[in-house]
Amino acid sequence: MSTDALDSGLPGRLAAIRARIASAAIRSGRSPEAVRLIAVSKTFGADAVRAAHAEGQLDFGENRVQEALAKQAETADLPLRWHLIGPLQSNKANKVPGAFAGLQSVHSLDLLARLSKAAVSAGVDLPVLIQVDLAHEATKSGLDEAELRHVLASARDLPGVRVEGLMLLPPYAEDPEQVRPWFRRLRDLRDTLLAEGVPPDQLRELSMGMSHDFEVAIEEGATIVRVGSALFGTRL
Ligand SMILES: *Cc1c(COP(=O)(O)O)cnc(C)c1O
Repeated sequence: MSTDALDSGLPGRLAAIRARIASAAIRSGRSPEAVRLIAVSKTFGADAVRAAHAEGQLDFGENRVQEALAKQAETADLPLRWHLIGPLQSNKANKVPGAFAGLQSVHSLDLLARLSKAAVSAGVDLPVLIQVDLAHEATKSGLDEAELRHVLASARDLPGVRVEGLMLLPPYAEDPEQVRPWFRRLRDLRDTLLAEGVPPDQLRELSMGMSHDFEVAIEEGATIVRVGSALFGTRL
């Protein structure tokens, strides 16, 4: 685990990220409150989470269930919202409802159906986002546009899970301007689906943008940004 998060710089970094989020939101004609920051604490310890919470951060993102559950146990005294943002095997679906405020990486109807069953038996409502794969990258999960339409339609009949929007993990590029077209495509896809009559409740959130490109993502319509290394430091 890196110890960067425990240096004295975290409050300053968090404040700077919040200020950049606010400016980008205003540039996109929205209020700063329209964009939610998820602090991606993967590979960092509970002490880093505590340090961010001390500065008022409540939403945290993790990409592995076991790591997230361990950190939750160590911070159970804090009122945090944990978001699972990494790929989840269907056979682990029952670990999510109740433990997480939401899952951002639904990549199949099978997974969504299992989450639905698990949420119903846990007696909770689970907000989820559907991960979209616009670039057809072999190494990343996510649905193409046709699959997405099918899952959005099927989701309306599944109890316990509530689709609230779309998530994108675009191809990496050093220059955020090279990522902008992917963000724009996700927003355009959202607008197309709305025009086709998909209920707005299913398309409220666009989770896109990470440490090096979150401002561009916000300019293109992100409502949720997932920021790890810019806040906590370099992951080892
Ligand atoms: C790790 C991760 C992030 C954060 O990445 P940074 O570049 O460190 O901000 C965001 N989204 C997902 C899905 C991740 O796995």
